[in-house]
Amino acid sequence: MTVSFALHGVGVSSGIAIGRAQLVSHATREVAHYTIPKSQVESEIARFESAVAEVQHELEGLHTALTSGDVPGEFGAFLDVHWMILNDPTLSEAPKRIIVEQRCNAEWALTLQMNVLVEQFDQIEDPYLRERKADVVQVGERVLKRLMGRPGTLPSPSAEEQTILVAHDLSPADVIQFKHHHFAAFLTDLGGATSHTAIVARSLNVPAVVATHNARQLIREGEMLIVDGGRHVVIVNPDRSVLGEYRLRQDELELARQKLRRLRSKRAETLDGVRVELEANIELPEDIDQANANGAAGVGLFRSEFLFLNRNDLPSEDEQFEAYRKVAEGMQGKPVTIRTFDLGADKQPHEFELTRVAPNPALGLRAVRFCLAEPRLFQTQLRAILRASHYGNVRILIPMLASVSEIDQTFAMIERAKATLAEQGVPFRPDTKIGGMIEIPAAVLSIGAFLRKLDFLSIGTNDLIQYTLAVDRADEAVSHLYDPLHPAVLKLIGLAIGSATKAGRPIAVCGEMAGEQELTRLLLGLGLREFSMHPSQLLTVKHRVLQTNIAAGASIVDRIRRVDDPERLKALLERLNALA
Ligand code: PEP
Ligand code: MG
Repeated sequence: MTVSFALHGVGVSSGIAIGRAQLVSHATREVAHYTIPKSQVESEIARFESAVAEVQHELEGLHTALTSGDVPGEFGAFLDVHWMILNDPTLSEAPKRIIVEQRCNAEWALTLQMNVLVEQFDQIEDPYLRERKADVVQVGERVLKRLMGRPGTLPSPSAEEQTILVAHDLSPADVIQFKHHHFAAFLTDLGGATSHTAIVARSLNVPAVVATHNARQLIREGEMLIVDGGRHVVIVNPDRSVLGEYRLRQDELELARQKLRRLRSKRAETLDGVRVELEANIELPEDIDQANANGAAGVGLFRSEFLFLNRNDLPSEDEQFEAYRKVAEGMQGKPVTIRTFDLGADKQPHEFELTRVAPNPALGLRAVRFCLAEPRLFQTQLRAILRASHYGNVRILIPMLASVSEIDQTFAMIERAKATLAEQGVPFRPDTKIGGMIEIPAAVLSIGAFLRKLDFLSIGTNDLIQYTLAVDRADEAVSHLYDPLHPAVLKLIGLAIGSATKAGRPIAVCGEMAGEQELTRLLLGLGLREFSMHPSQLLTVKHRVLQTNIAAGASIVDRIRRVDDPERLKALLERLNALA
């Protein structure tokens, strides 16, 4: 007999999905496990061999750097040990046997073998040798990551049965891979509502629930699930009456979606005649199809760092240029805001993984700090963006600015990129607009200086909330403290919008708050006229804009601005949203 039960989490993408569980997991802890057909065994072995060869190559490169003095000397012994472990048949050969015997994917075969080795190390009495277990795990994980960079063929969900991914934790890089697989829904044990994992899950355009705590442990492969993203709930093994009820609700939601589609080419204007720009957030160039299909007025945020993930090399200038040009041309003259890469913290390219583990990654070398610390990488990207500016209405957006000196340094880098392009006779738009993201309280509190230097601003509320409340956006243990409606957060947003408007500079919100229809009226009341969100949210927010009279809600918004009590604030917001 199957037992029916419900799990609660944080719904990060609404909608209802009904399907069978497929367990997948993060590369470093647990890995995807699937059976491969006999015909795929050889190519799976080849995939494993090339991952091992790539790590060998990587270690050789480090050895060369060592001899040229680029890497500290103590690295030498460590590299030798890793080299020996990698070339030992217990790591480089045994997994191939497992692939053949168990007909499983290479990641799983390697993980099984690593478990065997770890157990053997645990039984060693000599403490020095026992310590080498960590090296085995590191080498194994290095190979695993290479395998993840070149994923095998995931099992395709069967046509008649929808598949729902169940994972303990997934990095944004893991999730972006699922864009090309059509899963019905998505749930993870860990993750906060605005973690990058959740944002990418949302962009898959399927219902998703994160922070379910132990779904991965409780749910068995193939069990029937209902994922209700809007109500933050997952129902495992539902009985027939519950299934019937949810099928009905699914149909109702589909009908509502179809109705919304009629708004696609309607102007976004409030009842009192205020024009609003509703733009799209994208992660990959192909996302513009969805942006255009939902009537986006432009791209308000292109998270360009996703071009750098899930690969073992870095994208060249030409490759980046092609990606940016595709978006610029595809948006046909509408603004395309390319954020320079926001790497670091939870989005680490393979190339930089050997560097130290940051003690506090969200406060570490991330976004513009990382760009300025890696000038060659930054130059390459800036040149590629500027080249694309010749083919559309491109704007450059700098993430996570905290101080004016970062703006000055970035400007110097942009000037250098322009100079080299001009020297080489490569066309670009010299007056390409440069904007900055407002994501750190310090940036709001010194916004005057930012406004004097930058052409436009965009508030990244996901990070602004994280840094204002000191709540890690990716940590489900503190997700109950992550509050977009905290009075301090609203004060900062109001201050930023007010200051930019007064200075005549465009300002947008491109964090997740922009796509929350319960917040549309409040943001309009605070003076916001430019919203950028995931394409799937555009029509719902447009519908809300069309129903809003900003003047009628002005006095309530005024009180919201002044109130300090969170409960009172929420009650006022309800009143604002209930206005006819
Ligand atoms: C934000 O912080 O709100 C934002 C839009 O950037 P990201 O979510 O990519 O950090
Ligand atoms: Mg951000």
